[in-house]
Amino acid sequence: MSTTTHPPHAQEANMHLLRQAGISITLPRLELLRVLQEAGKALTAHQIYRCHLDAGHDVPLSTIYVNLKRLEDTGIIHRIRLDNDSKSLYCVSTDASPVRLVCKQCGQLLWVNDPRIALLLEQVCQDKGYALQGYGVTLEANCQTCAPGHLPS
Ligand SMILES: [Zn+2]
Repeated sequence: MSTTTHPPHAQEANMHLLRQAGISITLPRLELLRVLQEAGKALTAHQIYRCHLDAGHDVPLSTIYVNLKRLEDTGIIHRIRLDNDSKSLYCVSTDASPVRLVCKQCGQLLWVNDPRIALLLEQVCQDKGYALQGYGVTLEANCQTCAPGHLPS
């Protein structure tokens, strides 16, 4: 488990996120965001449920699903559908960098800060006659632990 405590300003930032998205600020939603941010990786709904229990919050799984859906609809949370079964992984889409790299097997999450991506996306927009205003990209992949053999070149 993470040993870092959730700083109060993170809670305020999350309240701001919910307000901006035009949905009501509720404790279960704030708690959900806190769990995902502290995990530092993408989690399944069941793992989120376990984290709630570990923190002493008995939130029904159905409530977690309802709030995940709501937060996904507003774009605050990104959902990654897994190939092999009906499970999904969830991560906060507003963290650190607009480019996220998620392992589809174990949920490991990396934020990518590569200026080449911004340059490329700007170029793509320009070619279409658009001015880029922002972006969020999730790269779904397999990490080296889950798919050994893909060594960095
Ligand atoms: Zn992995």
